[in-house]
Amino acid sequence: MAEINKVQIEDIVRRVLSNIDNTAASTTQADEGYSATSYNGRAFIGIYSDMNEAIEAAEKGYRAVRSMSVEQREKIITAIRTLIREEALIMAEIGVSETGMGRVEHKRLKHILVADKTPGTEDIVSSAKTGDHGLTLIEMAPFGVVGAITPSTNPSETVLCNSIGMIAAGNGVVFNPHPNAIATSNYAVDLVNRASRSSGGPEVLVASMDKPTMESASVMQSHPLIRLLVCTGGPGVVKAVLSSGKKAIGAGAGNPPVIVDDTADIVKAGKDIIDGCTFDNNLPCIAEKEVFAFASIKDKLIAQMQKNGAYLINDAQAARLADIVLVDVTDKKTGKTKKSINRKCVGRDAAVLLDMIGIKAGKDIRCIICETDFNHPFVQEELMMPILPIVSVKNIDEAIDLAVKAEHGNRHTAHMHSKNIDNLSRFASAVETTIFVKNAPSYAGIGFGGEGHTTFTIAGPTGEGITSARSFTRQRRCVMADSFRII
Ligand code: NAD
Repeated sequence: MAEINKVQIEDIVRRVLSNIDNTAASTTQADEGYSATSYNGRAFIGIYSDMNEAIEAAEKGYRAVRSMSVEQREKIITAIRTLIREEALIMAEIGVSETGMGRVEHKRLKHILVADKTPGTEDIVSSAKTGDHGLTLIEMAPFGVVGAITPSTNPSETVLCNSIGMIAAGNGVVFNPHPNAIATSNYAVDLVNRASRSSGGPEVLVASMDKPTMESASVMQSHPLIRLLVCTGGPGVVKAVLSSGKKAIGAGAGNPPVIVDDTADIVKAGKDIIDGCTFDNNLPCIAEKEVFAFASIKDKLIAQMQKNGAYLINDAQAARLADIVLVDVTDKKTGKTKKSINRKCVGRDAAVLLDMIGIKAGKDIRCIICETDFNHPFVQEELMMPILPIVSVKNIDEAIDLAVKAEHGNRHTAHMHSKNIDNLSRFASAVETTIFVKNAPSYAGIGFGGEGHTTFTIAGPTGEGITSARSFTRQRRCVMADSFRII
C-alpha cells in the first residue's frame, strides 16, 4: 500500500476536524491556513523577501544540480511527480480559493497531467557527426539559473511543469510568480524543494519571492546570474522579457478560434467544444474562445451545445453581459480608450456570470453561448471565461478569413471540426498556430486525450512551441579532429 506523507496526514486531520465542527463543514482545507510562505503552519522552503537572495539560492541549487549524475536528477524528478500526484487536490483547492478562478476538479486533473506527461531527462538528447575529419559531439547543456515569470491562470501547474523541465535540463530556477496566485505558486516551489530534500538533492533547489512585484521581476531580468528568462503570461510581460537584452522564451496570449464546417460530426463537435471551452472555466490559453460555424449546421450545433450544458442568451442579454465582463481602460500613452476584461469575471462559473445579468441557472449549466457578429468584443477579446460567441459563416473561405483575423496573429492555438481534409489543411496552413487541434476538445493539444507531451508554457512568439526540458538547454559542440571514427 502507498505510504502517506505528512501533508496528507495534516489534510486528513483537518478534514476530520471540520466534519466534527458543523459550522466549518462546508469549508475546504484551502479556505484558511495558506499564505505566500506557509501551508497549515508548515513553513515553505525556498521563499525569499529579496530577489537577489532568491537568485543566490537558485544559483546554489544550480551548482548542486550541475554536480549530480543524470540518474540523481531523474530521482528528484520522480519524487516531484509522486508529490504532485499526492497533493494535486490541495493545490487545486488553494488555486481556486486564492485566485477565485477556475474549477477544483479540473485543476486537480491539470496537476496529474503535469506529473504524468511533462518530459524529464529523457528529453535531452545528444547527437554525433562523424566523417573524414573525425567525430563531433553535440550536447545540450544547461543555461545556468533560469528566471521564470508565471501566470495566475495555471499558477502551480506552470511552476511544477517549468521546474521539471528546467531541472531535467540541469538548470537552477528562480520564480517571480503572479502576485494574485502567490500562495498557490509558492506551495509548488516548496513541493519541488521537499521532493529534492527527500531524494538526496539540495534543501533549496528552486526559489521564489514572498511578495513578487514588477520591481523584483526587473531585478531578475537584469541580474548577471540569470542566463535565461522564461515568461508565461499575457502580451505585457512577454514584451517586457523580450526587451530585456537576455535570451528569453516568451509564452504569450492566445484567442483560439474554432471552425465547424458542414462535414463535421455535429453531435461530437457540440460536446467537444463545450468540454474544451469550459475546462477550468476557460482559463487555459488554448481553450476555445470563439466559434465560426457554417450557417447550414449552426442551429444544429447550438442545439448540441445546449444538450451539453450551454445556456443560449439573446442579443440584449449578451449586451448586458458585455457591459459587465468588459471595462473601458484608457491607454496612458495614446489616451485612447479600449475594452479590457474585468478581472473579477475571469475564470468564474457560468452560473455566477449569468447571475450578474439576472439569470438563475442550474448547476448543470457550464457555458454561456450567444450568436454575435465578427466585431463583437466577445469574439475579439481573450475573455478567459465560459462565454462562447458563435459567428455564422457562409463557407470555408469566410470561416478561415474571419478565424485567422480573430486569432490576432498570436499564432497560438486554433481548432477545427470537419471531415473535409482540404478544409482542415487550408485552415491549419492559414492560421499558422503553434497548436492546431482537429475533432477534439482543445486540451487534446496539450496531451490530455491527445498524443504528445504536456506543457503549460506554449512559446509561440519565440518559437520553442510546446516547451520541454530541451527548450531550456543550449547547444555545445566538442570536436575530435581526424580520429575516434570506428569505421
Ligand atoms: P498576466 O500577463 O497578467 O501575468 C503574467 C505574469 O507576468 C505575472 O507573474 C505578472 O506579475 C507578470 N507581469 C505582468 N506584466 C509584467 C511586466 N511588465 N514585467 C514583468 N512581469 C510582468 O497573465 P495572467 O492573467 O496571469 O495569465 C493570463 C494570460 O497569460 C493570458 O493572456 C493567457 O493567454 C496567457 N497565458 C499564456 C500561456 C502560454 O503558454 N502561452 C499559458 C498561460 C497563460
